[in-house]
Amino acid sequence: MVPLHVLFFPLMAHGHMIPTLDMAKLFASRGVKTTIVTTPLNAPIFTTNNLCTEINIRVIKFPTLEAGLPAGVENAGQISDDMTPNFVRATIMLQEPLEQVLQEEQPHCLVADIFFPWATKVAAKFDIPRIAFHGTSFFAACASESMRLYKPHMTKFSSWTEPFVIPNLPHQIELTAMQIAVAEHDDQEDSQTDFNKLVSEAIECELASYGVIVNSFYDLEPAYADHYSKVFGRKAWHIGPVSLCNTEFEDKACRGSNKASINEHEYYLNWLNSKKPNSVIYVCFGSIAKFSTSQLCEIAMGLENSGQQFIWVVRKGGNQEGNENWLPKGFEERMEGKGLVIRGWAAQVLILEHEAIGGFVTHCGWNSTLEGVCAGVPMVTWPMFAEQFFNEKLVTEVLRIGVGVGAQQWNSAVTDGVMREAIEEAVRRIMVGEEAEEMRSRAMAMKGKAIRAVEEGGSSYCHLNALIEELSSYCVLEASKI
Ligand code: UDP
Repeated sequence: MVPLHVLFFPLMAHGHMIPTLDMAKLFASRGVKTTIVTTPLNAPIFTTNNLCTEINIRVIKFPTLEAGLPAGVENAGQISDDMTPNFVRATIMLQEPLEQVLQEEQPHCLVADIFFPWATKVAAKFDIPRIAFHGTSFFAACASESMRLYKPHMTKFSSWTEPFVIPNLPHQIELTAMQIAVAEHDDQEDSQTDFNKLVSEAIECELASYGVIVNSFYDLEPAYADHYSKVFGRKAWHIGPVSLCNTEFEDKACRGSNKASINEHEYYLNWLNSKKPNSVIYVCFGSIAKFSTSQLCEIAMGLENSGQQFIWVVRKGGNQEGNENWLPKGFEERMEGKGLVIRGWAAQVLILEHEAIGGFVTHCGWNSTLEGVCAGVPMVTWPMFAEQFFNEKLVTEVLRIGVGVGAQQWNSAVTDGVMREAIEEAVRRIMVGEEAEEMRSRAMAMKGKAIRAVEEGGSSYCHLNALIEELSSYCVLEASKI
């Protein structure tokens, strides 16, 4: 019999491509033929990592200029808010080239990002199941669904800052209207922006798809894994944490990077080797977040005043004003030996798993949150946009392995307004003292559960097997109908 062939089509954003490569590796490790479809400038993210040669990479053109985007733009991390409609337009134009690849590859299943809602129809054209990947937690998926169904912010809130309870969830979770996406506030048909429309279509596509792959594990959020399937009726397979499939140093060092920069990694890993266990806090806000210059200064001062050692990653383009000299005067000299600022891309999982790392300041992107869980470190949660305010609640209120920095405002354009005192206090709270030790021991216990979930016989290991078996029998059944 022909081996099962699964074709993956991730959104052109690091937070979607990185877990997709991990998923493909997991499928490949079980003998499944895997193909990833991506675009020229994103391809190196999949190919730099030379250990994944068994994964077939197909490159299709990204219609940058045709969609009115500046030359060289192919990734969500490169766009400003005003480019979003054109970026969405470009992704819609990918339908035809994807169909061409499906025609040539003839896979048995299409795992496509929910941000390609049209992929369900495309899969149907080829008579294959479409599985959706949204890249977030069960918790956030349930919270978003409750918000969509009950709109508590539209019926009850009297002010932007008055908390409301998200209805029909296993825990009493409160948010304010300020902390949710603008898309949630205004669902009038005629005032929908391209992006809001895409979000609604993405939810519908999740419902219409064959099922959903979730990068999570049962013991992390059992009530929400059950709620998602039993209350919201989704067919879901949890197969994570997918980052744990990277066991070799090179795999972790290259993950998400478009160039192999092992030397740089060695520099900061050596620096960490000279530090005591749990004595350094890692600060990183993912691949999209942007800050004002004044916010970057507040972070610097908050870290300095906390008295803790740190590694702080500031991505290229992470400063809204494009100003290179944003650090407070003399900061790097004062922090010599005590703190490192990495400008660009860091090997996050390698850093997080180093024994010197004792805490993580995160924007609560789901990949980062889960990587923090896998490392067993308490977190300072600093959500900014997307579903990050939901993930914060999971970390701080349900799992109780983190403290919030006090972020109040959902904003996808630029983060501002968190003061140095709040940063200093939150950092101290997760690094030193009794409360920190309690959070650390809960985080370490969850790390153990994460590792067991992906080991032979673990819940994620079994779900991946079940999914592969189901797809294989589905294909046999469909083939017999021909
Ligand atoms: N990441 C990394 N190095 C960096 C920044 C980010 O390896 O310097 C990785 C991180 O490990 C995670 C992904 O990029 O896997 C970011 O995804 P997440 O969902 O956390 O946030 P997003 O970038 O989508 O906001």
